[in-house]
Amino acid sequence: MTSGLSRRDFLKLTGSIAALSAVNCLGLDLVPVARAAERLKTAGARETSTICGFCSVGCGVIVHTSTSNGKVQSIEGNPDHPINRGTLCSKGQALYELANNNRRLRSVLYRAPGSDKWEKKNWDWALREIATRMLKARDKTFKVKDKKGIVVNRTEGLAQLGGAALDNEECYLLAKLARSLGIVFLEHQARI
Ligand code: SF4
Repeated sequence: MTSGLSRRDFLKLTGSIAALSAVNCLGLDLVPVARAAERLKTAGARETSTICGFCSVGCGVIVHTSTSNGKVQSIEGNPDHPINRGTLCSKGQALYELANNNRRLRSVLYRAPGSDKWEKKNWDWALREIATRMLKARDKTFKVKDKKGIVVNRTEGLAQLGGAALDNEECYLLAKLARSLGIVFLEHQARI
């Protein structure tokens, strides 16, 4: 919008005008509505704009965070965002549960080969383990030439699977990493 009026402000303003017109016509008492509005749980909350992390559509959302305890109070679609214009699909509407969910895993769980138990591990251990195993598999299966003697410098022992929650920059970095290791099997979850 021009004149410093955002689309969101414009919608609020026109909505208010329409509501006031309706109230005037119908002779409604707005006092109870005003009292309910005073009790909104997001009143005074800090608003932060970000994008939904569930898929690569990248819908814009506004996160309401309590200024007293820093907890997320609600998440809604951002009306000013050019991609979704305030709308969210059912996954986006459930974003709140990412921040407020007792069942969400918050640490690394590892199940050793042949074991029936999950062990809690820290990220340092997990990242080192992943790197060690990747390098071992890569070195074991690396091919400099194919059967015809053509130089290929690749491994067919590793594959990379991307997910819909990855953004452009993450996809770029992951693809670079995979290519630098000689991985040729790159796929995306949406195609399997
Ligand atoms: S999951 Fe839904 S709300 Fe989130 S980015 Fe994708 S389409 Fe948008």
